[in-house]
Amino acid sequence: MRTGNNKPSFRRPRKFDRNLIIIGAGSGGLVAAYIAAAVKARVTLIEKHKMGGDCLNTGCVPSKALIRSARFLAQTRRAQEFGFDLATVEYDFARIMQRVQSVIEKVEPHDSIERYTSLGVEVIEGEARLRSPFEVEVNGQVLTARNIIIATGARPFVPTIPGLDELDYLTSDTVWQLRSLPKRLLVLGGGPIGCELAQSFARFGVESGSKVIMIQRGARLMNREDEEVSALVAQQFEAEGIELRLNHTPKVFKQEAGRKYLVAEHEGQEVEIEFDQVLVALGRSANVTGFGLQELGVKLSARNTIEVNEFLQTNYPNIYACGDVAGPYQFTHTAAHQAWYASVNALFGLFRKFRVDYSVIPFATFTDPEVARVGFNEQEAKTQGIDYEVTHYGLDDLDRAIADGEARGFVKILTVPGKDKILGATIVGEHAGELIAEFVTAMRHGLGLNKILATIHIYPTWTEANKFAAGNWKKAHAPKKLLQWVARFHAWRRR
Ligand SMILES: Cc1cc2nc3c(=O)[nH]c(=O)nc-3n(C[C@H](O)[C@H](O)[C@H](O)COP(=O)(O)OP(=O)(O)OC[C@H]3O[C@@H](n4cnc5c(N)ncnc54)[C@H](O)[C@@H]3O)c2cc1C
Repeated sequence: MRTGNNKPSFRRPRKFDRNLIIIGAGSGGLVAAYIAAAVKARVTLIEKHKMGGDCLNTGCVPSKALIRSARFLAQTRRAQEFGFDLATVEYDFARIMQRVQSVIEKVEPHDSIERYTSLGVEVIEGEARLRSPFEVEVNGQVLTARNIIIATGARPFVPTIPGLDELDYLTSDTVWQLRSLPKRLLVLGGGPIGCELAQSFARFGVESGSKVIMIQRGARLMNREDEEVSALVAQQFEAEGIELRLNHTPKVFKQEAGRKYLVAEHEGQEVEIEFDQVLVALGRSANVTGFGLQELGVKLSARNTIEVNEFLQTNYPNIYACGDVAGPYQFTHTAAHQAWYASVNALFGLFRKFRVDYSVIPFATFTDPEVARVGFNEQEAKTQGIDYEVTHYGLDDLDRAIADGEARGFVKILTVPGKDKILGATIVGEHAGELIAEFVTAMRHGLGLNKILATIHIYPTWTEANKFAAGNWKKAHAPKKLLQWVARFHAWRRR
């Protein structure tokens, strides 16, 4: 039977076996389960594939492990810059990929069934399906709970381009199985995942002559960042031999007599681009089908994620969602952040519900140079009609960056006009993902640039860049009249 709300009506069980059932043991589900067990709720976590989800098995962990090996290799090629005559590295790509797996294995215990069971979480391996807003079916068993959290994550988005399905294309789910380097790897997509993987693969290909070609529909890479960010990353990619095909729209993939090529539209012309293997990195789609959402009438958003309110409730107030399946961000730390709100609101919402706070969200792309941001960049501030001032500090000026041979990039801060209140910060350069933390703390706790300037930073460290950026802001806002008066005072004292 359906209600006027297009929701079927269900009878609420007289009592529940559990306080909370969580579907999906990725970044969101694990944190929600951890919190629930810590506050002594009876909680069941259901995972159909691998504990740890995307981040551990096919996302953050393997990508960062691959980036580390690629970076080591790239640095050996710069031996002469650091005073060496020569550094040669011999390697077998299969062993690099095995190391990636061994890193996953080392991190695995953090997310394991054993660990979560010892924390007091009941973990069930199996595919969960919603039977009603209070019932979840798994392995033929029906469990009941007062609240349910959906944390089913997302999967690689694969567009419908003719000919793509006939190729054995790779995605971020499958690329980790590669054991030999494709001669010509075509990377579709110039967002964070595409950029991180493209640069790593390009770095492995230098000696063997393997090549990476990036196809981007738009005019620049990482198009959510300011233009100067994209420009710096693109410059580095081209210097490393990546073929950047910007403003290229894929039309059709063809295979003829062993020749594989993409026909793309570029400035009104059709161009053919040959390749041996394709990696599709065009974003991720929320996992919203196949487990009962449609049957229950759980509402989806225009972006095809689960629609949630500010408390992370779906249109069923006792069903919550967090992580990639809910969006709007797709990061491990935002999934974990939401998981706190979802679990606390689910378990204690009777007394008080907390509105999810998205005011200070940091993120990083681990390319070389790294790109990290918190809050607004210029392009977002402009779109939202927010007034701002910009302060820059170039990392080419930083003593530690010069000593490390990495003197490139910048710290860019947006502030409220005439005030030191930080609206956002973007850092491009070595360790950007670490350096941004100071601005995250400052924004989270309402500390302005004057406070950063008044804080001792160790010499010579990369963090001094933050202080120097704050110093540039201060110089631009020096009290001119007072300084003129002080100059006259000193002149008088010299008499
Ligand atoms: C290559 C790559 C690199 C990345 N790098 C970073 C990074 O550096 N930093 C960062 O913050 N983020 C990164 N991310 C994003 C990050 O991995 C995700 O945002 C995060 O894992 C989302 O967590 P989640 O809990 O929402 O979903 P997931 O981790 O995807 O977990 C969902 C889980 O639900 C399970 N599931 C689904 N349906 C069912 C069902 N019906 N029954 C039972 N179980 C089910 C799935 O098997 C899965 O294990 C990266 C992603 C990729 C692909």
